[in-house]
Amino acid sequence: MAIWNLGSINADMVYTLPHLPAPGETLAALDLQQFLGGKGANMSVAATRAGSHVCHIGAVGPDGGWAVDRLLDYGVNTDHIARVDIPTGHAIIAVDRQAENQIILFPGANRAITSDQLGQALTQAASGDILVLQNETNMQPEAAKMGRDLGLRVCYAAAPFDAAAVQSVLPLLDLLFLNEVEAQQLQHATGKSPMALGVADVIITLGAKGARHFSAETGEILDIPAHAVTPVDTTGAGDTFTGYVLSGLDRCLPMPQAMALAARAAALMVTRPGTADVIPDLKEVQEARF
Ligand code: ADP
Repeated sequence: MAIWNLGSINADMVYTLPHLPAPGETLAALDLQQFLGGKGANMSVAATRAGSHVCHIGAVGPDGGWAVDRLLDYGVNTDHIARVDIPTGHAIIAVDRQAENQIILFPGANRAITSDQLGQALTQAASGDILVLQNETNMQPEAAKMGRDLGLRVCYAAAPFDAAAVQSVLPLLDLLFLNEVEAQQLQHATGKSPMALGVADVIITLGAKGARHFSAETGEILDIPAHAVTPVDTTGAGDTFTGYVLSGLDRCLPMPQAMALAARAAALMVTRPGTADVIPDLKEVQEARF
């Protein structure tokens, strides 16, 4: 079995500044660090580290070779990452000494994925494989339709939230991931609880309060508590959780076990600064003491 991830690949450029710049101000940064990021890349790394075979479908620009190499180093299949003539997606993240931040997100190549590229990738998928989408690329509705037609399990993490984008794929989904804020936004947009939208499985993550799963088939609600840790950096916790749940399902674990493993992985993740580069592997997750 495999996981197909139509997902973003970003360079996260973190500039440390004495203070956040005011309009019109020119400010010299004290430090610059560059990390692999993007929700898509984070999920691909998480699901790979959890033990799955992950094929990433995405695009980078001429400046993105290092990001593809990094994904390859982590064991992600990069055969379906296109090289295009648009700069690689990046986030310019300004952080001051109080850890306040300002973020400029440039989607760039992440929005240049073509229908042909998608089709070529997904024709290699097998019925029962998982297809996961987020909202940082283009082509989500097309991918969801293709996935459905091919008998894939279509999963969607509704982030960054966009009501129209979520609603365009809702009828095609097998599994929907939301965080607490996205769940409220979706309820506001549709006038219905996210659990009443006809999606077979819905997972709502609730930060330090844990996560909840709803099965439309049985009507059952399952609550998985978070582990008590001292958070250092919560960036990527949701992506790690999602990647681990998907890998659990890909490896045929029942949902409660997949979510319990995901909660352990995400708890470890919030104790570490950084994103894709510090996502724990299955052994670390199994051996962690909380
Ligand atoms: P997102 O990053 O998408 O907003 P959440 O903040 O809901 O996602 O976090 C996803 C999961 O990560 C939670 O369900 C929980 O298991 C874990 N998690 C997040 N924050 C903490 C925390 N402070 N302590 C322990 N686990 C956490």
